[in-house]
Amino acid sequence: TNVVEEPPKVAIAKEKLIEEVKKTMEAETQKKGLNLVVIGHVDAGKSTLMGRLLYELGRMDEKTKVANERGSNKAGKASFAWAWGLDGTAEERERGITMDIAMQYLSTPHRHITILDAPGHKEFIPNMISGAAQADCALLVVDASTGEFEAGFDRAGQTREHLILVRSLGVTQVVVAINKLDQVSWDQVRYGDICDLLRAFLIQSGFQPSRTKFVPVSAMQGVNLLSRQGDDAKPLRFWYDGPTLVDLLDKLEPPSRDIVAPLRIPISNIFKGQSAGIAVIGRICGGIVQVGERLRALPGDESGIVKMIEVEDKSVEWAASGTACTLHLISIDPVQLSIGTVLCAPSELVSLAMTFTARIIVFDIQIPITPGATVELFHHSRDLPATVSKLISTLDKGSGKVVKSNPRVLSKGLSAEVQISLRTSSLSGSVSTVKSIPIEPFSVNKEMGRILLRRGGETIAAGVVLALVG
Ligand code: GDP
Repeated sequence: TNVVEEPPKVAIAKEKLIEEVKKTMEAETQKKGLNLVVIGHVDAGKSTLMGRLLYELGRMDEKTKVANERGSNKAGKASFAWAWGLDGTAEERERGITMDIAMQYLSTPHRHITILDAPGHKEFIPNMISGAAQADCALLVVDASTGEFEAGFDRAGQTREHLILVRSLGVTQVVVAINKLDQVSWDQVRYGDICDLLRAFLIQSGFQPSRTKFVPVSAMQGVNLLSRQGDDAKPLRFWYDGPTLVDLLDKLEPPSRDIVAPLRIPISNIFKGQSAGIAVIGRICGGIVQVGERLRALPGDESGIVKMIEVEDKSVEWAASGTACTLHLISIDPVQLSIGTVLCAPSELVSLAMTFTARIIVFDIQIPITPGATVELFHHSRDLPATVSKLISTLDKGSGKVVKSNPRVLSKGLSAEVQISLRTSSLSGSVSTVKSIPIEPFSVNKEMGRILLRRGGETIAAGVVLALVG
């Protein structure tokens, strides 16, 4: 005989659950998590700084440090010893640069920080963007040495460019580490001058003064990272008694976990579950999901019931916004689900669109973007065929004000408002009907409203969704 299993029922009404989850989160003694992207001009000392920080916070052990020192001495790059803790591949070590986003974790007293390390080399900017697109805050590293700060800050340098990029992707918190102060004998005036220049630029780029912090450091000597103890720190102690870098990182505001927002779970992976049903993986970017709940999958007409929720391999009754989880769904046709499908509560469906407007920033591209240009739209771990259907205006990077309406082309470095439309893709000759995708303006849901544009596998622009057109 076939025993038909009863689907699970929700344990508690959503309003009550929200109250309970709120209480749990307030009482939460565990560290708050956030994503940090490390930006700055090449050779500013980003890798050295992160390597040293990892070491001081006990993430790199003595053995690894000694091995790295030996390794880099052999390669004739003794000064890169700290960066070796972070830079992964052999090629990166040879060249002494960080090429890809290296994922690392930093644990400060109250924060669990995922570091998205950004490469400083111009050619690698697209990598930085994929990091920045997930970032909650940025750590800008600048080189205080004579002439070097200026080189990084002038038009050709990457200091400004990186700041504008992270701002255009919605990052609003920045910690600025003024590095290599040992090179200028811990000159207080030099430190002050650099802070003044950067502060003015940050404000002009749309950052709020209260959300930008400055700190004097020497990554190489490990001064003012975790503490100001030790002989190396003596010259700094004469004029500085503010926070250390770790003090500042420890106070970064974690992203608000919007548990009252409508439920949104974009699916990033799908596999066949045990016994009946199907398992999907996704990061909740709004709301709370609980076992027994019926979820609607969009696009499409399908819905299913949550049989089990797993977070970090443990089965849980509910999971809230900001959590990556595996959901086991039953009574749903798996054929209707794909990567990019968004699960939501039947009463609060995510909007679908084929055309929308976006504010983008154009990267260092050779061929400008023209109206009708074919691109791949990258949204929630998938690429979709699209066109830049209208060039609406170019914008001032700082103020966001319109510089020019209806521009003919968008060349590198420009900030612009454009209209993007999904394209009909022809499968084996026949033109398939275009499906709208679940997408929301950045102002409604940050994670649902961030996009990248690619061409030939290369990222050519990044930005945020402004409005859905249809
Ligand atoms: P990145 O390109 O920003 O990742 O920079 P690296 O971390 O690779 O550092 C570039 C160079 O600056 C290396 O030779 C480092 O040893 C050196 N460096 C980094 N931090 C300091 C510092 O605080 N003081 C001095 N004197 N040199 C530093």
